[in-house]
Amino acid sequence: MVLITILPQWNQELPFKKKKKRRRRRNMDPIIIVHGGAGDIPESRVQGKLDGVKTAVITGNKILHQGGSALDAVEAAVVSMENDEYFNAGYGSVLNLRGEVEMEASIMCGKNLDVGAVTLVKDFEHPISIAHKVLTDSPHSLIGGEGAKLFALSKGFAPLPPESLISENAKHALEEFKKHGEFGRTEIGIREGGTVGAVAIDADGNIAVATSTGGMSGKAVGRIGDTPQIGSGTYADNSVGGVSTTGHGESILKYCLAHSIIKLMESGINPTAATKTAVEGMTSRLNNTAGAITLSKMGDIGIHFSSRRMAWAYIKNKKLMYGINHNQILEDK
Ligand code: ASP
Repeated sequence: MVLITILPQWNQELPFKKKKKRRRRRNMDPIIIVHGGAGDIPESRVQGKLDGVKTAVITGNKILHQGGSALDAVEAAVVSMENDEYFNAGYGSVLNLRGEVEMEASIMCGKNLDVGAVTLVKDFEHPISIAHKVLTDSPHSLIGGEGAKLFALSKGFAPLPPESLISENAKHALEEFKKHGEFGRTEIGIREGGTVGAVAIDADGNIAVATSTGGMSGKAVGRIGDTPQIGSGTYADNSVGGVSTTGHGESILKYCLAHSIIKLMESGINPTAATKTAVEGMTSRLNNTAGAITLSKMGDIGIHFSSRRMAWAYIKNKKLMYGINHNQILEDK
């Protein structure tokens, strides 16, 4: 009893030391950047891709400004592009040699390095949402094929007939590939690119990255590329930044492109220089093209592609910037 009367209560301020207020850190201005794939994009597909990346970045930005997490924002931005036939993800994914869709996606949380990824997905509209569920609800990091299907069904994702994801453009790309393509030796497999990705920082300063793809036209049945592989297609670390990549998958994964960019930033190089150095380094070493979007933990941006084109868009300080050609930066008010 005596003790209680002489000791200050826990919730009283001590006379000699100001009690620290425990407040959640909500001081970052949220930022989101997206890409719509590196490749030799024909003129006829340019406007559709620009419209698509702008819609995606606005979708993700809305979530961030409503107080949503970076993970939810990057998922929503990618879902928006998976719905859009102008991109090689979800509906409109390119086809393997047997004429089937086999999709891949990954997502990463920079706060605790949690990851979720799926590969060889055929029956679902939104591989990125299944990957997000792997992140939150599975002890595993990457689930593929039949296992991914079972996991998705067990989490309530509705399957659909795989043919319903096939677009006319994807059929045409496979025909072209069969006529002229040499997988991995020419650029025809990624003629149009169209893989999608998003990197965001939310108000709490958490970074998340999501990437989703149909792979490359004319790929072998069961081929797995860079996109679902953490460190190649996707990487996020709150203490450095986040990266999503696109381009020639077999080269990107040999170079661990996303993580190469992170490592350069960790050594003090800014995101613009880090993204350019790693993408060009991969291209000169392996003779194939790629692109990447990067955010540093401070919210600085890096965009670079060694392909002919890559659609990108970001919203920072209430400004929407976008582009698709080299040295092109457009602004929407
Ligand atoms: N990186 C993807 C893949 O190889 C293709 C792309 O980004 O266009 O699967």
